Formats: sequence, C-alpha cells, structure tokens
Amino acid sequence: MSDYDDTEKVDNNQRTVLAALAGGALTGAAALAGQQTQAAARETSGSEQSVNTGVDLNKKGMQLIITGSGSALPDPLRGGASCAVVVDGVVLQFDCGRRVLENLMLVGINPMKVDHLFFTHLHFDHIADYDYFVISNWIAGRQEPVYVYGPKRTEAMSEGAIKHMHAMDYEFVHEILSYWPPHMKKRPTQEPPFTVKDVSPGVIIETDSFKVTSLETDHLPFPNMHTLGYRVDSDYGSVAISGDTGVSDGMLKLAKDVDILVHECVKPDLGMTPGGGKFSSKDFHSDKLMKKRPQTGHTSPSQLGKLAQDANVKKLIAYHLAPYTSVPAAIEMSSLYLGQSPGPSIWTAFSSAMKKQYDGPVVLAEDRMIFDIRK
Ligand SMILES: [Zn+2]
Ligand SMILES: [Zn+2]
Repeated sequence: MSDYDDTEKVDNNQRTVLAALAGGALTGAAALAGQQTQAAARETSGSEQSVNTGVDLNKKGMQLIITGSGSALPDPLRGGASCAVVVDGVVLQFDCGRRVLENLMLVGINPMKVDHLFFTHLHFDHIADYDYFVISNWIAGRQEPVYVYGPKRTEAMSEGAIKHMHAMDYEFVHEILSYWPPHMKKRPTQEPPFTVKDVSPGVIIETDSFKVTSLETDHLPFPNMHTLGYRVDSDYGSVAISGDTGVSDGMLKLAKDVDILVHECVKPDLGMTPGGGKFSSKDFHSDKLMKKRPQTGHTSPSQLGKLAQDANVKKLIAYHLAPYTSVPAAIEMSSLYLGQSPGPSIWTAFSSAMKKQYDGPVVLAEDRMIFDIRK
C-alpha cells in the first residue's frame, strides 16, 4: 500500500467518524427541538429553558445546566447523569460522570470555574470523570480550591483516585514542579487544590446567595451504600436533584414546591418495553422482591410523575436516561438491562406516563440543556 493509500484510509476513517458525530449531533438536536416545542407549549412555571445559549458567569441569576443526561453504561449521545447549578456566577456541580468537563466547556464554563462539587453517590457512572477533573485542573494551574462533598467514602474514593489510580501523575506533577522555570510565577499548586469532605444529610453549605441541603435517598439497602439527594435554594428560586434512587421520602421532601426537580428515570414502567432485559423483568418492579433480593433501586416514569405531583414541583426534568435510541453499539452493550429497544416511541411512552400522574411541564433531559430560574 502506498503512502497515498494510507492517507486516503485515514481520511476515510476521519470522514466516517465526523459523519457519525454529525449524525449524533443532528439526532440530538432534532430530539431537542421536539422537546423544546413540547416544553414551551406546556410552560407554566417561572423557570425558562433556553437551549444552545452560553452561560455567562459574570451575569447575576440562577441557571441549571444538564451536564449529562445518560445512564450507567456508555452512550456516545449522552454524558453520565449530572448537572450544574450556577448562582450569581458560583458553579455548583452535581456528580462528575462521563463528559462533564466537555459539556461544561460547550456551554461556556471553564471547568476551572467549578467552585463546589457534590456527589449523590459513588457508583462509577457518577464519578467517572472525577479523576480527570482533579488532575487536569491541577496540572492546568488552578489555584482556588474546589470543595468536594459526598456521602461516606467520598474522601476515600478521592484519595484512591488521586494517589492510587493516578499515582504516576501525582509524582509527575511534583517532578515537573521541581523543574518549573523559576521566572514563571504561575504554576500548579504543590498539592491538588481539592478539599474533600464526607457529609451527612442536612445543610451542606450556606452563603449569602445560596443554600445547599441534602437528604438520604433509596438506591440500594446495603449498609455501605449511601446515596444523597440535594436541593439548592436562592433568592431566584430552587432546584432539587436526585442521584440514583427509587421513590424516596428524601427526594419527596427535597422537591417540595421546588421550581425544578431533576430526577433519575432510568427504569421503564413494566410492560413499556418488549422484554428480554433485567429492567423489563417482573422481579425488577416488585417491592416484595426488592426487600428479599435487593435490586438496583431506580424510578420509573409513572413513579416519577406521581412524586412530582405529590411534591408540587413546578417543572420536572427526567435524566439518567437509558440509551434506547442511541447508536446500535450502545444499545447492544446495554441489552442485558434494556432487552430489545422499542425505538423512539419509548420517549413518548415515558412522557405520557409522567403526564398521567403530574400536571406540570415535563422535560426529557438532553446534554447541555440550560434552564433559567426566576421567581
Ligand atoms: Zn447512575
Ligand atoms: Zn447508582
């Protein structure tokens, strides 16, 4: 094969990748446009959705940004379930799964501007980019601390990520620091600028402009499995955020009268999918079996709609959505749980099930959606 042939091959590969990316973007954009129309038609609350506009940290106000709308297994069209709440330029990041850094950048937020990071729990899909976030902020010369909060074992997870998983990088940054050009004042700090704290339910942080409260939620009944939901209150309004959980008293309380509830909804209602996966098995939907043979606690659209109605939330955003309509490889990889995908009709079924229980506006999250919160 000549050099020319090699070049052609690379070009063709690149073209294939670009086409796939464009296809993904278009699919996402088309879905987004549909949801925008739906959301706009049902707009009844004081919060307003504006998609594809950047976030200006110099502006006053409160915004919610979906930094990941997807679920546990990889999905190239959705990052891991996570969101950011910005209050008067202060960035509060909730969970740090796949693509958080990229999605923050795409809406105009430098990840070095994240002030506080809250973990709902420590499952891999919620912490997947944490190590990268720490090391990249450190090596890029971040000076201001990031305050990290999460349930029990967050400190140990962070220590493991920085000093064990990235032991080589940890030594490497110290080595480059010892050879840093003396005339360059700007340099990485001696240690990663992260202050990490295991927290218990209650008020986690309160400032003049916002308050973050947390309560326990119900993901799995194992003694070492701690999960937290959060609520952010400010003069502009309020947002409640769940991690992975079944229907929980904690989220019901946190979401009471909130402007926006962002809640996981990875599990379909029974019978909503053709079957063949764990999520479509009766076991997975049985409270009795959940007690006897604990399974992953998640929330279905009907359950979420009822929770939103009971909590009197002004707008419901469902995230942690499974890759039913992603690329074939992602659907195939998740098939142990999803079984056969019903295709795009699954989202209509999700929305309808939520709307049967809840009479406010419903949004199925997409990455990088931005919502303005106003009283
Ligand atoms: Zn999850
Ligand atoms: Zn989980």
